[in-house]
Amino acid sequence: MKHVIILGIPFSIINHHKLVNNLNQQIQSAEKSFVITANPEIVMRANREIDYKQDLLRATYITADGIGIVKASHILNNPLHERVTGYDVMMDLLQLSNYHQYKIYLLGADQETLEYTKENIETEYPSVKIVGHHNGYFDWNNNNIVEEINQSSPDVVFVALGAPKQEQWISQNIDHFQKGVFICVGGSFDVISGNVKRAPLSWQNRNLEWLYRLLKQPSRWRRMLALPQFTFHVIKQKVKGSS
Ligand code: UDP
Repeated sequence: MKHVIILGIPFSIINHHKLVNNLNQQIQSAEKSFVITANPEIVMRANREIDYKQDLLRATYITADGIGIVKASHILNNPLHERVTGYDVMMDLLQLSNYHQYKIYLLGADQETLEYTKENIETEYPSVKIVGHHNGYFDWNNNNIVEEINQSSPDVVFVALGAPKQEQWISQNIDHFQKGVFICVGGSFDVISGNVKRAPLSWQNRNLEWLYRLLKQPSRWRRMLALPQFTFHVIKQKVKGSS
């Protein structure tokens, strides 16, 4: 697969449709894959924390969750065509799971959000088999999540622990599993449960989803500080010609 390297992170040059198709094929042939949908904040953290960068480098696919990543790829003359977000991929995987009766496991969010997420998936996608779920506030060193997943053998594991925990959890545990799509889906359970609304399509189409989220949750402002730093480093990469 072709990549565009942005500040040392290899982004897969793949669109949403092709990624979902590939994942479906991998499920059908009982392969294993690790999907990260990354934004500038994740890339900046990987540049500060070498262990986190190593976690990201274990992924099968890293796609552009944020418009900042798509813009950076254009600056580097190796353009990614579109955002491929965790939420959108999750929606399509749920639809496929409904059609093929795939087994899924939900990991993340607080207990109440998780329960509502499960209920809403059961209502919207009645043929999906939810073989297990666990909230995202567990003792990292003492839990039986890996055993639970191995016993229930899901086709897809949705990991909604937010960054950086979701990427770290998959990277540190994926060797224990034989098969399955392990995908980081950030705050998707908050949206599916009805706790948080996604930006209207008109905002998404104008690449303003980040602004919508900031207006809804002003406490996120600190996270936005990664953006100017990210842009500065991308321009530096371009000037150095190291892409
Ligand atoms: N979360 C979790 N465990 C933690 C920290 C966070 O399960 O230790 C969940 C949190 O409840 C929320 C999601 O992870 O549902 C993070 O959402 P956020 O919108 O911050 O994700 P991102 O912006 O990283 O996609």
